[in-house]
Amino acid sequence: MNSRLHIAVIEGDGIGVDVTQAAIAVIEEATKQVGGFSLSFDPIAAGAGYYRETGVDIEPGGEEACGKADAILLGAIGLPDTRYPNGTEISPHLRLRERYQLYAGIRPVKAYPNGIQKLVDPRAANIDLIILRESTEGLFYSAAVHDRSIVVEDVEVSDILKITRATTEKLHNFAFKLAEKRKQRGGKGLVTCVDKANVFKSMAFFRKIYDEISPAYPDIKTGYNYVDAQALDLIRKPWEFDVLVMENMFGDILSDLAGGLVGGMGMASCAEIGDETGLFQPAHGSAPDIIGMDAANPLAAILSGALMLDYLGEKLGINALCVAGERIDQAVEKGFAENQIHPKEFGGDMGTKAVTNTVIDTIRDM
Ligand code: ATP
Repeated sequence: MNSRLHIAVIEGDGIGVDVTQAAIAVIEEATKQVGGFSLSFDPIAAGAGYYRETGVDIEPGGEEACGKADAILLGAIGLPDTRYPNGTEISPHLRLRERYQLYAGIRPVKAYPNGIQKLVDPRAANIDLIILRESTEGLFYSAAVHDRSIVVEDVEVSDILKITRATTEKLHNFAFKLAEKRKQRGGKGLVTCVDKANVFKSMAFFRKIYDEISPAYPDIKTGYNYVDAQALDLIRKPWEFDVLVMENMFGDILSDLAGGLVGGMGMASCAEIGDETGLFQPAHGSAPDIIGMDAANPLAAILSGALMLDYLGEKLGINALCVAGERIDQAVEKGFAENQIHPKEFGGDMGTKAVTNTVIDTIRDM
């Protein structure tokens, strides 16, 4: 049976457009090689450029269309000189995160052979971990966009760090299932709970729920780290970790730290997954400084596309989708191992198109 799936595509602004087109070209090649399903990419206009033209940040009905699709693929949104009247940057994707409760933020951090490595210890070549960042509550519960801070005139401001049982149970289950899947593919089978349970009741609650969930996954090892110690360990021995599960703000900070160990923004893929749908996008922004220069590294978007295929395969029970996702991962790995990929971002000579074509050629030859 050939299943046809619908992907809502928001190219967005700046390099978002180029890297999304790169990701789609790679996904289409992997799809062709594997067969068994087809994808329809349905464009949705949104972003700062669209806001400038129309006065709204996403096309009418766009948010609903995103929810109806099987998944959402996004490039990058926002331009520094285009803002809402309240001064904040254009960000319809934050509404999508809230509306569809995309609680599980996946940030893979992996060292590729011949890729960028900031640590001199040779074991850094084995870095392969996931920061699993809760993305709907935590300290971001009172992010400015939600307008939930308690402001006492010009004297005092309190932000709230919210941890709910419902979301945290889902998050920890997600973490253990992710570790199981990674273990089947050679992963370490370890989930580390990163918190500050020694100081905050909210964090003790987060850990308590982790302890309630973990016995259901006897094949996965458990570990704990306070967030400050985790920051240290990400420099001292990042190769020892597998899945690191944490609240929103800790994940925001540690995913940048960990990403910095193995490359620039152009390698930082990202998935945000909820009960019904998932949004897949590179973790970088629209990079206004390199727009139109064919300088953007498309790999973060391409690897986000691989995460999307894997997610769709699991959700819909179509193994061919998972195989296609794996093939993209393997092509990127092979391209680096054979020293075929030299993004301009790392001082190489390959722009967006050249990197994309190399990945496509590698998939074709696999
Ligand atoms: P945002 O807040 O929207 O995430 P930002 O202002 O933090 O965005 P980015 O747009 O991600 O920043 O850019 C940060 C720096 O990283 C810029 O110098 C940009 O050129 C570079 N950069 C970002 N993405 C890429 C990429 N895919 N390839 C090469 N360089 C990139």
